[in-house]
Amino acid sequence: MSAADITVAEIGAVSDVLRSPHLSMGPNILRFEELLAERVQKRHGIGVSSGTAGLHLCVIGADVKDGDLVITTPFSFVASANVILYERAVPIFVDVDPRTLNMDPSQVAEAVVDLKSETKRARRWLPPALQESDPVEIADRLKAILVVHVFGQPADMAPIMEVAKKHDLAVIEDACEAIGAEYDGRPAGSLGDTAVFAFYPNKQMTAGEGGMIVTDDDDLESLFRSLRNQGRDIFDSWLTHSRLGFNYRLDEMSAALGAAQLERFDQLLARRERVAGWYNKRLEDVNAVTTPFVPPTTTRESWFVYVVRLASHIDRDAVMVALEGRGVPSRAYFSPIHLQPFYRERFGFREGQFPVTEAAAKATLALPFFGRIGEELVDHVCQELVSVLEEQRRVRKAGP
Ligand SMILES: *Cc1c(COP(=O)(O)O)cnc(C)c1O
Repeated sequence: MSAADITVAEIGAVSDVLRSPHLSMGPNILRFEELLAERVQKRHGIGVSSGTAGLHLCVIGADVKDGDLVITTPFSFVASANVILYERAVPIFVDVDPRTLNMDPSQVAEAVVDLKSETKRARRWLPPALQESDPVEIADRLKAILVVHVFGQPADMAPIMEVAKKHDLAVIEDACEAIGAEYDGRPAGSLGDTAVFAFYPNKQMTAGEGGMIVTDDDDLESLFRSLRNQGRDIFDSWLTHSRLGFNYRLDEMSAALGAAQLERFDQLLARRERVAGWYNKRLEDVNAVTTPFVPPTTTRESWFVYVVRLASHIDRDAVMVALEGRGVPSRAYFSPIHLQPFYRERFGFREGQFPVTEAAAKATLALPFFGRIGEELVDHVCQELVSVLEEQRRVRKAGP
């Protein structure tokens, strides 16, 4: 499905670290932080051990505590909602836009107004298990909006920022899939109060494992540096811990790889863009296949995965099995977060609550996608997909 793009120079950069005295907290993380902050035009970059760790710290930074509410999307990788649960807070899911699959800004605005209304209208946004909550208490509990830029496509941030500002809510951008993307000419990750990028091997650029928070806020920067390092403040000695912290540090080998990848990031992005173009060209006119939609607010798409949607009469899972049989891997991206077993159990979520998300989750098909895939392989994948769809059409026509 994916393969990291690693050069000999990058292998050398990691080896150099291994020959140096600093395997953690050395010069490489500082350099990586500086390079990335500069790229997204933010004052601070704070390297962490994963995207999930970064998002967790941002939730803490937004002052989210037990029983607080955070608005987010159910159409995402599970980590973006889990970080809310880490602080014993409650995810308030709103459904997505059917074309972009990003959080629908008009529903975000509606949810904020209702949750702040101190009336029973607030309840329709709460998870079923919390229906009996007091609407007056609820109003004070809403703290933040956690936006996800899904598949490298920036969410529609302008209306979301507007409603957040009006109601004094923090905005966290989960930009783990969107490094390099631009919204109205501005980098994804530069728009909220805090944002997080991730560097797992299938992302647009990798550090092996790793993540980076970016922010303009000096106080949050200090807080994040302390929280990632066992709660030490900069003036603390090694065994003084000013607060409850974590070990979310990014090691030097990962930081060296990340910095080297970032230095040639435009090349990495351009390669992926070219591959997406190959897929688009071959699949645009195929019956029953919808290629990715790019809205006008996206001035640059950063291709994380290549996900098509199959028409509702097609059995997507059967297509995946048939493709597998022909040696072509594919994935169903994503499985709705609210329907994950422990979300159902804890919050009482059930099918039918977020119909756009649920329909999309049944129709999406991610195809093999990475920067160094060849055009012949893309051609092969597309031919197999078209042939599988044709085969299924014949089966349907023959009837039961
Ligand atoms: C990859 C990803 C994360 C988490 O990143 P890790 O580094 O794997 O912890 C979070 N949110 C989204 C949307 C992601 O795709």
